[in-house]
Amino acid sequence: MKASKKALHHTFLVLFVVFFTYPSNSLAQTNTKKPNFIVIFADDLGYGDLSSYGHPTINTPNLDRMAMEGQKWTNFYVGASVCTPSRAALLTGRLPVRSGMASNKHRVLFPDSKNGLPASEITIAEQLKKVGYSTACIGKWHLGHKEQYLPTNNGFDYYYGIPYSNDMDYIGKGMGYQKLAQQNPEGIKTENYNVPLLRNTEIIERPANQNTITKRYAEETISFIRKSKNKPFFIYLAHSLPHIPLFASKDFSGKSKRGLYGDVVEEIDHGVGQILKALKEEGLAENTIVVFTSDNGPWLPFKTHGGSAGLLKAGKGTTWEGGMREPAIFWGPGQVKPGLITEIGSTMDLFATFGSMAGVEIPKDRIIDGVDLSETLRNHNPSPRKSILYYRGTDLFAARLGDYKAHFITQGAYGQFGERTEHETPILFNLYHDPSEQYNIAENNTEIIEGINKLVEDHKSKLVKGKDQLAERE
Ligand code: MG
Repeated sequence: MKASKKALHHTFLVLFVVFFTYPSNSLAQTNTKKPNFIVIFADDLGYGDLSSYGHPTINTPNLDRMAMEGQKWTNFYVGASVCTPSRAALLTGRLPVRSGMASNKHRVLFPDSKNGLPASEITIAEQLKKVGYSTACIGKWHLGHKEQYLPTNNGFDYYYGIPYSNDMDYIGKGMGYQKLAQQNPEGIKTENYNVPLLRNTEIIERPANQNTITKRYAEETISFIRKSKNKPFFIYLAHSLPHIPLFASKDFSGKSKRGLYGDVVEEIDHGVGQILKALKEEGLAENTIVVFTSDNGPWLPFKTHGGSAGLLKAGKGTTWEGGMREPAIFWGPGQVKPGLITEIGSTMDLFATFGSMAGVEIPKDRIIDGVDLSETLRNHNPSPRKSILYYRGTDLFAARLGDYKAHFITQGAYGQFGERTEHETPILFNLYHDPSEQYNIAENNTEIIEGINKLVEDHKSKLVKGKDQLAERE
């Protein structure tokens, strides 16, 4: 009797110790649960187009709150300054020149393009599927619209969106968009752009009603979140806008002080707020990372219908900072340590970062250009990325190493910012001191240029260019 009482006492003691020792472990277990990832990718939104990045009249309270609660990156880049290669870079973690998704013949894919992202490429979605994620692509794809190239053949369980740019398949008459925007904005009608809207591989609407497309993309995202809440998920929400032609739904039209472009950005911002609200309602906020960025800089020739690169030089189509540096916000309460990050990052890093956080191994059979930013997100550790290579098509135009960027070739785009110029001595800028690339300091900094040259030579010596997938059209 005495002995059993002692045993009982002992059991209680063990239970007591277990109970009070293990809560920290169970917390650790919650934290090791695979996080959900949502990438919200705007189209042609510039570095200066959010209020948190300095825009004086575009009101983006939801994105601004995301930036306050999470990390606001100020030296974050895309893999190319136009749509198709930039998207290939984000999803594969590789410079588009490697996959053949960059070309000197056509800068992007068109509705009569024959090809798309090669099946041999591995997307973030394919990576995450290996460890049990549900995956959805919502919005603009632009990596091939033929069935074999669609998201559903590239690791996504679900697709809803316009498969290429919203200004394609134009069937309207008369004035082009630029003139319409200035002289007859009412003439810009969604019916004039005969773009298809797909669900998985089926066309469900044509022309897609672009007045409501931003709103519908957000709704589709929320419905996928609610459906997938019991499994880890990855959602790639690539908005068709604010790429021209601009359209906003009734609730947002005419509301922004910035005009129609502002209406569009504010509607995207509203959708971001709805998505975060849904995550909180489903109890998923603590275990989800939301990233917001844009595919390339603003399309400046469209004047007030194009965005702003803020203090950065030039825009879409160029390798000046305005073409390839973007706002980038990482939000994830419980995962992302809030702060302002001036370290260097790239959309290509999402591949390795998500892989690391989800516990999936990075492919060893190919060069991955992305690095793992997870310790910068969690603890503000220095970013492992120290350099950026700026490609235009398949040519390397510029390179950044640490503070400095050397331009070997410069060229404007769409009739602005000058003709192609090859610089015998590269022009050099200190991007921390001179983000607007105004003051060439090449003369007294030959050692810095030598260092950048070495980086470029090393890169070029190992580079195998993929077969051009953008060149062939029907
Ligand atoms: Mg774009």
